[in-house]
Amino acid sequence: MADKHTAEPAEKPAAAKTEKLTAVKGMNDILPPESARWEWFEAKVRALMARYAYANVRTPIVEPTALFVRGLGEVTDIVEKEMYSFVDAMNGDKLTLRPEATAGIVRAMVEHNALYNGPMRVWSAVTLFRHERPQKGRYRQFHQIDVEALGFAGPEVDAEQILMCRALLRDLGIPMEHVRLELNSLGQPSERMAHRAALIAHFEAHADVLDEDARRRLHSNPLRILDTKNPAMQAIVEAAPQLMDFLGEASLAHFNAVRAVLDAVGLSYRINPRLVRGMDYYNLTVFEWITDKLGSQGTVCGGGRYDGLFEQLGGKPTPAVGWGMGVERMLLLLEAVGAQPPLSPPDVYAVVPSAEAMPTAVAACEALRAAGVQVQMHAGTAEGLGSFKSQFKKADASGARYALVFGADELARNEVTVKSLRDGNTGGGAQRTESLADLAAWAPQLLTLQSPA
Ligand code: ATP
Ligand code: MG
Repeated sequence: MADKHTAEPAEKPAAAKTEKLTAVKGMNDILPPESARWEWFEAKVRALMARYAYANVRTPIVEPTALFVRGLGEVTDIVEKEMYSFVDAMNGDKLTLRPEATAGIVRAMVEHNALYNGPMRVWSAVTLFRHERPQKGRYRQFHQIDVEALGFAGPEVDAEQILMCRALLRDLGIPMEHVRLELNSLGQPSERMAHRAALIAHFEAHADVLDEDARRRLHSNPLRILDTKNPAMQAIVEAAPQLMDFLGEASLAHFNAVRAVLDAVGLSYRINPRLVRGMDYYNLTVFEWITDKLGSQGTVCGGGRYDGLFEQLGGKPTPAVGWGMGVERMLLLLEAVGAQPPLSPPDVYAVVPSAEAMPTAVAACEALRAAGVQVQMHAGTAEGLGSFKSQFKKADASGARYALVFGADELARNEVTVKSLRDGNTGGGAQRTESLADLAAWAPQLLTLQSPA
């Protein structure tokens, strides 16, 4: 990657220039009309974050490779085989396209001593990169909504974040019957050590069933074996000793306090003792929101507490909790349950029959836009502006509620015709003329009553 520029020969044969270029495998273009669904989703997210008082943060897409190796743990899928890492040819720096959001945000908080005045609740919309096998719901460049509560130790913040996810599902119109919440506690490091010893003993007793990955991880990271997707290993994984049985009083109390909040607000969940999540930094509460609608890519949101990460990245001990939601998977889920964003066509399509009328028409449309009206202007081709009829066809196809006709007769009187395009079956909708002199007075009538996104 680093020597991209120099690797190419200076001159290429002329034929190569006309070859079509395609996007990198597993990396998607998001074009209209699909992009409208993204904007709708993002607007819902922004409104949600405001309601829960989470502030927006933005950190770099590229970070030092060491950040993820230290933050996520060396023996994790991401660090072992999914990172886009490269050497900066300019200075030899080892860099990585971020595969997850939390490590970068924690690095930023430590670097800027941002929690000096107290804890912070933040969120970020992030683009992430993982070198995985692309398939539906799994891409090499993908997007997450990420929330982090930094400096909060209490279980009520764990519950708050789980509830944010429920609120978003509701806002998006996804019926709760299509998603379930799974919950577990990973306890504290000392409790995990005791469990780990029991786990190794269990897997050693079944060494013949372990696959290559598992055998390699047996002594480095046996907990990760529980995360296996290998069907041949499901039986021994299911019979493995459970961490829940190794939790001390404080860990159990934290877990039960989270559960008490969820119970109080009537959110049902399933305790899944094998839920371990993909990163090493988690402790205590971990959770996932899962749907049956997307096959094996069914986890739409996952998160948990990571009280040790700040220290691991050179900061002061700082309790924290967060989640990441896969945007592509949420949009796939929305599609699967038939939830669609409302259409948002322009209010007005400006029909301009002749080039002479264009300056006046543009000026009027600028004034309408200044008044908040959404205006799509007709625009010509190399052959000209096109017939009156073809312009009206385009006006109709735009979905606009009104056509504004800047005809020669109208302009001679400093007027414009306002024609309704959506009032029933008459073919020709009701029309009236308005004076361009008092445009500001009638412009508001063109605004479509839109429900706030
Ligand atoms: P999975 O088990 O599906 O690989 P994960 O545990 O690696 O998920 P996290 O790192 O916890 O996922 O990321 C949180 C969410 O981001 C996932 O629940 C999923 O919705 C989404 N996600 C993860 N990897 C991808 C990907 N490669 N493409 C699209 N979305 C993804
Ligand atoms: Mg993964």
